[in-house]
Amino acid sequence: SGDLEGKTVLVTAAGQGIGRATALAFGRAGATVHATDINAETLAGIDGQPGIAIRRLDVRDGAAVDAAVADIGAIDALFNCAGFVHVGTILDMTDDEFDFAVDLNVRSMVRTIRAVLPGMIARGGGSIINVASVVGSITGAPNRCAYGITKAAVVGLTKSVATDFAGKGIRCNAICPGAVDSPSLDGRFRAQGDYEAARAAFVARQPLGRLGTPEEVADLAVYLAGASNTTGQAHVIDGGWTT
Ligand code: NAD
Repeated sequence: SGDLEGKTVLVTAAGQGIGRATALAFGRAGATVHATDINAETLAGIDGQPGIAIRRLDVRDGAAVDAAVADIGAIDALFNCAGFVHVGTILDMTDDEFDFAVDLNVRSMVRTIRAVLPGMIARGGGSIINVASVVGSITGAPNRCAYGITKAAVVGLTKSVATDFAGKGIRCNAICPGAVDSPSLDGRFRAQGDYEAARAAFVARQPLGRLGTPEEVADLAVYLAGASNTTGQAHVIDGGWTT
C-alpha cells in the first residue's frame, strides 16, 4: 500500500530483526526510510530495497544522532528500535551492565526524540514509536531485571512525550512485543546450551502456539505511524503471552 507516501521515517537498529522488517515495511508503504544501525554490514543487506537509504548510526553517540537528524531534515516518523537484553536477576548485573542497558535501551530513545521533536513541532506533527516489551511494565520474566527496568522506562518515556506534545500534533506510542523470532533471540536460545529445549520453552509460553515474527511487529508499526487517534499507549503484540 502507499499509506506512508511522501513521509520520511527514521529507523534505528534496522540491520536485523524487528528494525529491519519495519524499515522494509515502511519502504513498501511508500515512505522514504532512513534505515540506521551501528552495524554497517547487516545494514548493507537492505540497501537498494524500495524507499530505503542506509546510514551507519550508533544511538549511544548523541552528537552522531544530532548530526544525522540535521542531515536528514524533515522527519515525519521515528521508529526507536535499538535495544539489548541483559540476562540475569538483580544479583547478576554489575553497575556497568546496568548503566549500559539504561544507555542503550532508554537514553538512546531520549536522544533521538530530543533530536527530532523540535522539527516535528515546527511542522505541526509527527509520530514517534518506541519499541518496549511486555517484559517490565506488563509482566515480569525470569532473568530480565535490567531489561525489564529499561523497557518499563520506555513506556514511561512514551507516555510523558505523548502527554506533553499531543497539543503540538505529536503522537508517541510504544510497542510491547512478546517473544519475536529475531537473530538475537535465536542467539539467546543457542547460548542456553540445548537450543531445541530453549526454543520449545519459549513457544510453550505462547497461547497462540508460536513465536511472533518481525513482520507482524512491522505491520503494527506502519499502522501506528499513520494512525491519527492513538497516542501514549503501550500496544501489546505478544501471541497471548500476557492475557
Ligand atoms: P536484534 O536484537 O536481533 O538486533 C538488534 C539490532 O540493534 C542489531 O542490528 C544491532 O546492531 C543494533 N544495535 C545495537 N547497538 C546499537 C547502537 N548502539 N546503535 C544502533 N544500533 C544498535 O533485534 P530484535 O530482537 O528484533 O530487537 C529489536 C528491539 O525489539 C529491541 O529493542 C528489543 O529489546 C525489542 N524486543 C525484542 C523482542 C524479541 O523477542 N526479539 C521482544 C520484545 C522487544
